[in-house]
Amino acid sequence: MSDALLIKFLALMGFVVVVNVILFWRQNVDMSESKADLEATIQMLERKKTNLLMKNTDLERQAHRMALKMEHLEIEVRDYSQARHDRKNLPMVFFVTPTKRRPEQKADLTRLGQTLAHIPNLFWILVEDAEGPSDMIRDLLDRLKMTQTSAHLAVSTPEKMRMNASDPNWKLPRGVEQRNAALEYLRTNHASWHRGAVYFGDDDNTYDWRLFDEIRKINRVGVWPVGIVGGLIVEAPIVASNGTVTGFTAKWKPERPFPIDMAAFAVNLSLIVENRDAGFSFDVPRGYQESHFLTSLKLSRNDLEPRADFCSKVYVWHTRTEKAQLSKKDLQRTLDPAQLSEPERNAIA
Ligand code: UDP
Ligand code: MN
Repeated sequence: MSDALLIKFLALMGFVVVVNVILFWRQNVDMSESKADLEATIQMLERKKTNLLMKNTDLERQAHRMALKMEHLEIEVRDYSQARHDRKNLPMVFFVTPTKRRPEQKADLTRLGQTLAHIPNLFWILVEDAEGPSDMIRDLLDRLKMTQTSAHLAVSTPEKMRMNASDPNWKLPRGVEQRNAALEYLRTNHASWHRGAVYFGDDDNTYDWRLFDEIRKINRVGVWPVGIVGGLIVEAPIVASNGTVTGFTAKWKPERPFPIDMAAFAVNLSLIVENRDAGFSFDVPRGYQESHFLTSLKLSRNDLEPRADFCSKVYVWHTRTEKAQLSKKDLQRTLDPAQLSEPERNAIA
């Protein structure tokens, strides 16, 4: 190759190198420019994300506030539909329910709860015959929107007493420990409530709304008839024309000091507070719980105030839930929710 040709070649190569360097440099500039652009975009998106997250939190807060407002409104509508505008001035009804775990319990408590949820100024004291409170009842109170107007307690009937129950001559008095726990709860938490009446309402009875108006009217101790109880169409106090209770229609153990059912009376809260030892006991003959309790409040027959139109109306029935006819295996399965199908669990738990 001649020198001239070599020089031309080298010049060409030099030119190519320079062009490449320029191109490479341009590319680098472009890349760092687009990198800066990208970084700016990322920063902007990060800011947008933070803003959106804040907005989301704010909306969630608003939704929560709205839900609380809705719940409040629902309760107001429910109470308003009772057309009781003076509800704030009504005496409080403390409704005490001992309740035992069994397959029919959810059904019974749903029916009872859906009655009680409509009653203004009512406080429901549920005492489970169990080691601890169940989710089933907690969820029910939640659904009924009664968590603020109820107490959910639990106390087991002592094993010793259950053992006695196998003795055919001895029938376990029901709800003794539970009702006493409710009395203690009232003394501790509601002692200063001046206008309150205490009523013992079993989970399987049937209650007319009008019963609660009668409960509120009592001064010291009110009584009224109970439908379908003690082998009678109705068990009622007998009221003389001067408005005093002179006797009872009870056929079963009429010699009792107060031959009436647990559902037949309510007492003023102040009596419970003043008589701290008053309550129920395992040590009384069958059918004497009501008499024992009323006597422990230092009440006598002369104190009874006949209510429900001088004991001529029936606003409560001693209905009893039939025991479910389940196989031994199914009964066993009801004790362990893990063994139940979804609808089975939903039926009882
Ligand atoms: N109860 C209870 N523990 C028991 C049996 C019953 O707490 O071991 C409750 C039951 O849920 C009900 C009340 O006590 O609210 C009265 O019981 P039940 O209805 O069986 O009595 P009855 O109406 O037959 O007199
Ligand atoms: Mn019952």
